[in-house]
Amino acid sequence: MAEEDLTRREDDTIRDEQLKLVFAQAPLAIIASPLAATALSIGIWEVANQGLAIAWVSVIASIALFRIGVVVAFQRRQSALAVRVWERLFTFSFVTAGFCWGVGGWLLLPEEFAYRAMIFFFLIGMASAAVAVYSIHVWAVMFTILALVLPATLDFALQDSLQERLMALAVVLFMIAAYRSLSITNHFVQRAHSLSHELQEAKEQAEMLARTDFLTGMNNRRSFYDLCDTSFKLARRYGEDLTAILLDIDQFKNINDVHGHAVGDEVLKKLARIVAETCRESDIAGRVGGEEFAILLPRTNAQNGFELAERLREEMEKAVFHLEGGDIKFTASFGVAQMRAECDSLEALVAEADGAMYEAKQRGRNGVFLRAPTAPEDAPR
Ligand code: GH3
Ligand code: MG
Ligand code: MG
Repeated sequence: MAEEDLTRREDDTIRDEQLKLVFAQAPLAIIASPLAATALSIGIWEVANQGLAIAWVSVIASIALFRIGVVVAFQRRQSALAVRVWERLFTFSFVTAGFCWGVGGWLLLPEEFAYRAMIFFFLIGMASAAVAVYSIHVWAVMFTILALVLPATLDFALQDSLQERLMALAVVLFMIAAYRSLSITNHFVQRAHSLSHELQEAKEQAEMLARTDFLTGMNNRRSFYDLCDTSFKLARRYGEDLTAILLDIDQFKNINDVHGHAVGDEVLKKLARIVAETCRESDIAGRVGGEEFAILLPRTNAQNGFELAERLREEMEKAVFHLEGGDIKFTASFGVAQMRAECDSLEALVAEADGAMYEAKQRGRNGVFLRAPTAPEDAPR
């Protein structure tokens, strides 16, 4: 079901792209419709049922107005209609316009061949425009051009005149050619849209993978530094507090050696989950080395950074892995450093946190060492 939803969403994205193309092309064709109906009525005026011609042009103009309204509403997209609803609205108004052209043209057919040929010419012209504008919906176009030309074509086919029968035959050939051309265009338009959609998704996926650490799903080193860059510059510019935490798993080599690399990997994943669950959304965390992780805390002073590191340390100490050979636990050492005035790069700040972390290792591991901006010896554990 979830996969179906996904396919439907992808399908809708492609349909949306196609609809944008249709709606971009449509206005000219929509405006041309009442203009062509007016020109045709003027052309046949002296032999036509004039009342009928006026009524017909009015109906065609009203439909064109409605269709322009649909196009404008689509382009503004104020109403959050689903793409399929827009599609239906457009198709409905498109088919209705074709139907009015077909029935009107037939009702207006006079006796004289020259005028009949003229109406026929207009109907075929409108049908060709329909093929060009709405090529993405083969059946909607086929139905529309059928509605456009069928009444007049039947009328022509039933006449005794050879020329009129030949013209009716030409319409059949036109329909076959239109169907073929529509199917081919449709196929290529859809392929082009779906390829560009796939390409976009592949690009997003590749960008995401380039930013993410494969094992833990955290930001990788490069992404961590990229994301922190803005926070660092803002903090320096506005004199805001900024604190970095660096943590390193204690005796991790032992865990790997005793329990295997796979268990070591599970420890890394667990640690990443603890970091994600404990930090705020505004904090930036990343795996910056094999078993080293860094966290940047915007608008946070050393004391609050220390408290967060202490919470993380406790959570890690509490975590237990139940294995067949017995339970295993892990701990980590933390270094905390707040940005000082002379700290001119993010790397320098992280290096200070790294130095503090080294201090925590020296002091027996499983602890937090804080390098405060003013009192470096502050709050060791
Ligand atoms: P210390 O307490 O001094 O930090 O000791 P340590 O053993 O943790 O430190 P050391 O730097 O000597 O060991 C780090 C180990 O981390 C060595 C390396 O094999 C392991 N490691 C690095 N990346 C990965 C990984 O992706 N998966 C696993 N399972 N182990 C890793
Ligand atoms: Mg270590
Ligand atoms: Mg290490």
